[in-house]
Amino acid sequence: MLVSELKPFDEILHSLDGESTIFLLGCHGCAEASHTGGEEEVRAMKTSLEEAGKTISSWTVLDFLCQKALIKTGLQPFKGQILASDSVLVMCCGVGVQAAAAAVDTIIHPACNTLSMGGAQGEWRGSERCEECGDCLLDFTGGICPITACTKSLINGPCGGAKDGRCEHQPDVRSCGWQLIYERLQKLGRLDKLAEIHTVRDHAKAEPPKALRSTTFWALEQAKE
Ligand code: SF4
Ligand code: SF4
Repeated sequence: MLVSELKPFDEILHSLDGESTIFLLGCHGCAEASHTGGEEEVRAMKTSLEEAGKTISSWTVLDFLCQKALIKTGLQPFKGQILASDSVLVMCCGVGVQAAAAAVDTIIHPACNTLSMGGAQGEWRGSERCEECGDCLLDFTGGICPITACTKSLINGPCGGAKDGRCEHQPDVRSCGWQLIYERLQKLGRLDKLAEIHTVRDHAKAEPPKALRSTTFWALEQAKE
């Protein structure tokens, strides 16, 4: 179970700057349980964005966004609407946003931050990983997590150690995460996203919040260990 919280609406709106038509994607899994991406929240987001002048091409809530094969199948009926959209706003945890970004050839935006539960991951394990940093950066990286895809968790570009697109740490098994980010943004025609400089990460946001540690969610995650 991954617990998420909605980003402030202003931040979501800012991420949609220059875009007019948006497709909304929610998740019946952890995001619905977190009250961030179930049908109710997606409908509310649709209303808020329309009030802010955006057009919602369509929306859907899929069972689990943590598996890109499921996303590809679930989005098949919406292919036309997604193609007609400037972007997809994904209302779920960081794993689901990354899986959605890998499944569709359009720019995606995260609507949520993923809160720490001490290391939990998506319910349908895929190759995407979220470190529950509490301040999701996927909007700037084409939906590839710089915290988990880069060995050093760099957030403002590569370290300079990569060779032939491979990470200087374990080049045999790891691609350079920032090379992957660059290639994804280049493919989407959004290299401008790299112009944004991020301030030092607030690691306190990656601490499991006290309130969560007293919930049954927390107890269940610990019991899994
Ligand atoms: S930036 Fe990465 S670690 Fe942080 S919430 Fe997003 S996917 Fe998770
Ligand atoms: S080579 Fe790439 S993935 Fe490896 S630490 Fe440097 S920037 Fe990160």
